Amino acid sequence: MDLDKLQTTLEELGQPAYRFKQIKLAMYQDLKEGFDSIENIPLTLRQDLDRLLSFNELILKTEQKSLDGSGKNLFFTHDDLAIESVLIKHGDGSRTVCVSTEAGCQIDCSFCATGHLGFKRVLSPSEIAEQVLSFSRELKAKGEKVTNVVFMGMGEPFLNYDNIKKAILLLNDKDGFNLGQRRISVSTSGIVPGIERFGAEDWQINLAISLHAPDNALRSRLMPINKTYPLEKLMPALDAYVAKNNRRLMIEYLLLGGINDSPRQADALADLIHAYGEILRLSVVNLIIYNPTKDSDGHWDRFRSPSLAALRAFEEILTKREIAWTRRASFGSDISGACGQLAGEVNSTH
Ligand code: SAH
Ligand code: SF4
Repeated sequence: MDLDKLQTTLEELGQPAYRFKQIKLAMYQDLKEGFDSIENIPLTLRQDLDRLLSFNELILKTEQKSLDGSGKNLFFTHDDLAIESVLIKHGDGSRTVCVSTEAGCQIDCSFCATGHLGFKRVLSPSEIAEQVLSFSRELKAKGEKVTNVVFMGMGEPFLNYDNIKKAILLLNDKDGFNLGQRRISVSTSGIVPGIERFGAEDWQINLAISLHAPDNALRSRLMPINKTYPLEKLMPALDAYVAKNNRRLMIEYLLLGGINDSPRQADALADLIHAYGEILRLSVVNLIIYNPTKDSDGHWDRFRSPSLAALRAFEEILTKREIAWTRRASFGSDISGACGQLAGEVNSTH
């Protein structure tokens, strides 16, 4: 539901101010699925609202379940754009929802299925937040809850800053979804003005940077955004972010076999991090194994996953160079729900 529209509609209907909060709570905490089930507001109001507003901004089209317990939901917006979100179930009981922030993406990284779709439009705050509600309703039936939200689905969050900020605040809001700020993370491909704005916010939201290459030549080849914000602009911005916020930065490094996984490149990555004291002090390199995607012609495997030997050698060098790292367990690749595989069923069947 568009909450701005709700507010004006309630005013036009001459409703008392507390109704807004009541309805927001019903939607985001009681996880109601329609106006008709909000029993603490008058029946006539429910009927009026049902006539004047749509309760859900997203229409759930399909739900896929992965063997590892993860799930992927395909939604349509009211203007018929396909977007996807993923639920990742971890062994420790945490339940992470990965939300899309745009339909498609302007950045077009060469390894990413979303990028190959092209860009349709940014998503509204409610369209972003309601992806979380969809999984929450499903989990509630099993007595479980969403514990974390990551802005790592389709789209570049920092090219939709105003809306992702509103979505974050709504998810964090005590009268909204009421999720702790430390449980929310945003990943960017490296939009420097966005990083600066994010760092200036008065909040505890986590930041992740998709680095994927230790030098400009390779990074520009993989991620065209590097031509606009090359490493000599990006790295100082990240260093300043860590210095100011004193929060851990996650550096995502997607390992592409034969492209960026050599021992020389592991050393170059360590050199790059050692050159920025604050990043060195408070960052973790998150190694991601490449998940196969289709290119714009519908062909698979433009890139390949790294060999286990290359992965181990890479990790060993990082350890030797005293760089903190983790390996991201991949979830849901059997349903194309893993990172970078989100392309919308409609498109991936073409
Ligand atoms: N646009 C933002 C957030 C969404 S992408 C960003 O790029 O950071 C989320 C993560 O998935 C990024 O780190 C991205 O580089 C990674 N990713 C993209 N394609 C992938 C693939 N095929 N396999 C594994 N990870 C991929
Ligand atoms: Fe966009 Fe992120 Fe995919 Fe790059 S990796 S195309 S920035 S969604």
